[in-house]
Amino acid sequence: MTLSAVLGYPRVGPKREVKKATEAYWAGKLSADELQKVAKEQRLLRWQTLQQQGVDVIPSGDFTLYDHVLDFNNTFNIIPKRFADAQLSDLDRYFAMGRGHQKDGVDLEAQEMQKWFDSNYHYIKSEVSSSTQFKLNNLKPVDEFVEAKEAGIVTRPVLVGPITALLLGKVGRDEPNPASFDPLSLLDKLVPVYGELLQKLQQAGATEVQIDEPSLVMDSTANLGAQYQATFDALAKAAPGLKITLATYFGRLDKNVEFVAKLPIDTLHVDLDRAADQLDQVVEAVKPTSLKLSLGLVSGRNIWKNDLAASLATAKKVIDVLGQDRVVVATSSSLLHTPVTLANESRLKPEQKDWFSFATEKAAEVATLAKALSGADVSAALDANKQSIQARRDFEKNSDAAVRERLSKVTPDMYDRKSPFAQRIAAQDAVYKLPPFPTTTIGSFPQTKEIRLARSKHTKGELSTEEYEKFLENEIKHAVEFQEEIDIDLLVHGEAERNDMSQYFGEQLQGFVFTENAWVQSYGSRYVRPPIVVSDVSRPTPMTVRWSSYAQSLTKRPMKGMLTGPVTILNWSFPRADISKEVQCKQLALALRDEVVDLEKAGIFAIQVDEPAIREGLPLRQVDWNSYLTWAVDSFKLATAGVEDRTQTHSHFCYSDFNLIFEHIKRLDADVISIEASKSDLKLLDAFNKYSYNNLIGPGLYDIHSPRVPSVQEMKDRLAAFKKALPNQKHLFVNPDCGLKTRGWDETKRALTNLVEVAKWAREEFA
Ligand code: GLN
Ligand code: ZN
Repeated sequence: MTLSAVLGYPRVGPKREVKKATEAYWAGKLSADELQKVAKEQRLLRWQTLQQQGVDVIPSGDFTLYDHVLDFNNTFNIIPKRFADAQLSDLDRYFAMGRGHQKDGVDLEAQEMQKWFDSNYHYIKSEVSSSTQFKLNNLKPVDEFVEAKEAGIVTRPVLVGPITALLLGKVGRDEPNPASFDPLSLLDKLVPVYGELLQKLQQAGATEVQIDEPSLVMDSTANLGAQYQATFDALAKAAPGLKITLATYFGRLDKNVEFVAKLPIDTLHVDLDRAADQLDQVVEAVKPTSLKLSLGLVSGRNIWKNDLAASLATAKKVIDVLGQDRVVVATSSSLLHTPVTLANESRLKPEQKDWFSFATEKAAEVATLAKALSGADVSAALDANKQSIQARRDFEKNSDAAVRERLSKVTPDMYDRKSPFAQRIAAQDAVYKLPPFPTTTIGSFPQTKEIRLARSKHTKGELSTEEYEKFLENEIKHAVEFQEEIDIDLLVHGEAERNDMSQYFGEQLQGFVFTENAWVQSYGSRYVRPPIVVSDVSRPTPMTVRWSSYAQSLTKRPMKGMLTGPVTILNWSFPRADISKEVQCKQLALALRDEVVDLEKAGIFAIQVDEPAIREGLPLRQVDWNSYLTWAVDSFKLATAGVEDRTQTHSHFCYSDFNLIFEHIKRLDADVISIEASKSDLKLLDAFNKYSYNNLIGPGLYDIHSPRVPSVQEMKDRLAAFKKALPNQKHLFVNPDCGLKTRGWDETKRALTNLVEVAKWAREEFA
């Protein structure tokens, strides 16, 4: 018999119950007990849902109130001293580690976040040091296993693997010798405690466990064969008989499969959605062993219906070699990157809804595949699937010929600005000379309750378009007045009209469809609703010009237009699966190019095209980088290069390790780039010197992901450090590290007032 498995499931709840409860707890409107009650109900609902869909192997422990990596750190006592010492409840300490804490005299900065492999999910980076003392600080994985078991569902607990956990971490501030300390050196200390947890799971009745080692699809593990062997030997010994599924996902194992196939595990899981081409190599390696192979056939990363006939054909090929009992069919990764269920979508056109599968429907697909392979009659489900797949293919054929034609006519000169940077900046200074250390922000101002309420009323038809636009104009006016009042130099309109930086554009472009409830976790309690690209993309009319022009009409100071870049729109959407991402991205670039030129025509001095997602789209293996970066950078250039020298282009990135991709960042040739650098260390800036980057830079002076207000002194120190690290830059731009939409007005006012003070100080200090 062939079994079906789901590697993980969204945690938010079908109606975002978990998000709402968590935020209510933070706001003091819900007690800790009430929050835990909601969490418990939702955990049960998840298990029951997967059971109802017919899934054989159901995960537990993957639920979280903030982040599963933070859960891991908390369970294994990877708690930096500043949090351990704080007088907080366990729950508040946990949240403080994730999002910072500034209350009742306790002032703690959040730990750093980083994107989870190549997804738009952010995890909390653990901070380890030679003083890290692993111990079981709690038994969350065991507790949740028992909770499910008591509800009659025997689950497979999911744990972040020990090597991946350490590779994802960073050297903590507690470490006396940070330069020479390697987090992986802690492996020997972690493994015994990890083994203890496996024993406890086994004692609680678990027969199997899923250990996630996605790092195995990265180049960084190529030389870790011995460590993997020793680790899994020790774990197998610690809990003999506990069957381990080693889960790899988001990419291909390549050569690592040779040592992985020798590990004392029960099942190896591989991702055949992102890396279908690894199958033959994996089967070859697994064949002589007794390992089972878990085939990640149903995508955990996209929302397209699985082509069940194609998946069955693949699975049968493997069964021919390994036999039915050694094959498991599964989701490619956790489904946390997909929305909960299609059932709550009432506005999608039925013929379009039929193209998609969200997490719950994907669970059913996995179950159907397993049943079909085990000889059950699921012909009705297979027939229906075949029809949907055919209907989608028929639609694809009738895509937009004009868009394809325009793209085919793009000429090489369209990728470059008219003059080199030196000439451009002179032309820009002639239009508007910004002071040294000019202050600006990254674009958005607080998305207040009032804004969200007005938007939702407008969507429901309770507020007329005229009233809504009046409301937005008022917000813009307020933002402009505020910036003038605190003396910001390069203004923004505040983005009050935007629900989300990618969705907002998708909604105005041809070629996208939207959902009502398809929320996907970005970090903590933040969720986004990615648009879905369904056909060729074009821009019917200008998208932002009216708001930027209105904002400009209110002030003599220069206004910065604000767009989301093609790479980011694509990366934060669910892309089509039938044509390449490159083609989709360039179609978007052409649409944005028109918008950039229209903003210039409307008299906007500076235009920022945000590409915070350019780094996360980077393929996991280095051999694949060049081809991605070539089309990604080309797309940005195609979008921005249509303007005159006098127009100042800006771009913004978050969470970027620039050293790795610097040549490409340089190739973007934006006049100004603002980057997230407030939490990452200054080494990230080395590349700017090494590659003599002479265009302008605005390194983020404070972390906007946390509600705490940065002091003048700490920002002066940071700016001075940036100045020292970037000797070629005469005048850095002075700005926060990202947009302010998640913050409140009060903190924003105080933080930006401090920021302006720092810029004024810098003008004298570095004159
Ligand atoms: N302009 C966007 C904002 O300010 C940028 C957001 C981002 O980088 N994620 O919100
Ligand atoms: Zn950002």
